[in-house]
Amino acid sequence: MKFGTEILKQADVLAAFTEDAPRITRTYLSKEHRLAGEYLIGLMRDAGMNSGFDALGNIVGRYEAGVPFAPVVMTGSHQDSVRNAGKYDGLFGILSPIACVKELNRRGLRLPYTLEIVGFGDEEGVRFPATLIGSKAMAGKFDPAWLDKADGDGVTMRQAINDFGGNASKWNELDRRGEQHGEVVAFVESHIEQGPVLLNEGLAVGVVTAIAGATRLVLNVTGLAGHAGTVPMGARQDALAAAAEMILFVEKFCTDNAGLVGTVGKLSVKPGAINVIPQDVEFTIDVRSGDDGIRAVALKAFAAELPAIAAQRNVQLRVETLYDADAAPCDPTLQKQFETAIAAQGIKPRYLASGAGHDAMVFPAVAPMAMLFVRCGNNGISHHPDETMTAEDAEIATVVLLHFFEHHQPPQFSASSAQRVDRNL
Ligand SMILES: [Zn+2]
Repeated sequence: MKFGTEILKQADVLAAFTEDAPRITRTYLSKEHRLAGEYLIGLMRDAGMNSGFDALGNIVGRYEAGVPFAPVVMTGSHQDSVRNAGKYDGLFGILSPIACVKELNRRGLRLPYTLEIVGFGDEEGVRFPATLIGSKAMAGKFDPAWLDKADGDGVTMRQAINDFGGNASKWNELDRRGEQHGEVVAFVESHIEQGPVLLNEGLAVGVVTAIAGATRLVLNVTGLAGHAGTVPMGARQDALAAAAEMILFVEKFCTDNAGLVGTVGKLSVKPGAINVIPQDVEFTIDVRSGDDGIRAVALKAFAAELPAIAAQRNVQLRVETLYDADAAPCDPTLQKQFETAIAAQGIKPRYLASGAGHDAMVFPAVAPMAMLFVRCGNNGISHHPDETMTAEDAEIATVVLLHFFEHHQPPQFSASSAQRVDRNL
C-alpha cells in the first residue's frame, strides 16, 4: 500500500496534539493547533512544498507549477476539531493531498498549475462565536468584528491571533478573490463522509453534488396548564401533544420527499410535572437539502401545516428563524473529473449531497468548487471518537485525488491576466 497506512499513522500522530487527552480536542489558535501545524508544515516540506503559517494561523503549502505565470488550484480542509472528536474529520483532507504531492515530487513531476494545500485554522467554531474563520478570510467573507469576540476565558480573537504569532491586522490580505496573477481556478476538498451512505452501498468514495443549505427554526407552542386528573380530554390545550403532532409532520414530510433531512434536536416542556398538562413547549427544527428549491417547498409546507395543527388543538404557535443559508453547489465539470478518477479505479461513481457544512462551501465566491467523500465506518459516526476510516479507503481516496490532480487542466489565462502580464513585460 502506497499511501493509506502512512496517512492513518500521521492521523494518529496528530491525534496526540489534544487539549484534553485521551479525548481529541484541538481548537483554533491553541498550543495544540501550533504543534499540529508545525507537524503538517514538516510533512509539506518533506513532500517538496514551501510551507508555513499565514497571518491567521492557517497552514499553507505550495507545490509550484512547472510553468511560469501558472494559475493556482487550492485544496485542503480544517486542522481544528470539535470537542471529543474523531481522528479524520478535516485532517484527511490535508494529509491526503500532501501524500499526492510527495508522490508527484518523487516522480519529478510538476503540474500545469501551482497546487496549494491549506490546513484551515478554524472550521468548527468551537473557541470563538464564528465558524469557517480561515476559509472565510480567503473567500472575502471574514467579518472584522470577529476580532473583538472573546473566547470562554475572555481572550479576544485579535489577542489570540497575535499571541499565536500571527497578525490580526492582516486579515484582509488573505482574500483570494479576483487575483490577477496566480489566480485561483479551482478549490477541491477531500473529507470523510460523516454519514452512512457510502458505507451502506459498499463504496469507498463518492462525488459530492452540493453542500446542503440549511434552515433552523425555533418554535414556541403555548397551551394551557391544568390538572392531569380533572380536565377532560376534549377540553385540553396540551402544548406538548400539539408539538408532538408537529414534529411527526416534519419527520413524515422529510421522509416522503427525497433530498430532504429534517431534525428536531431540542425540546423543552413547562411546567414539566407528571401531573400537569404541559403549557409551554419550545422545540427546534433543522431542515437541510442540497437543493434550495426542495428546502423552500418544505418550509412552505411547515408554514401551512404547523399553524393548522396549532389552530385545531387550540394552542398558540410562534416561529422564529435562527439561521438560513443557501446550498453551495459543486461545479459540474470538476464533479465529472472526480467521476472519471473514481471510474479509473474500477469503482462505480456515486453522487451524493453533503448534509454537513465544510470549508469548501465558501469557495464558490473564489473559484469553482468540488468535494470528494471517503467512506466513514461504524455506521457513519463522526464528531465522535468512534469515527473510523480504513487504510484501504484512505489509499483509494488518495489514488483518486492524485488522478484528479494529474489530469486536471486549468483554464488558459484569462484575458485580463494575460494582458496584465504583457503590460508588465
Ligand atoms: Zn470537517
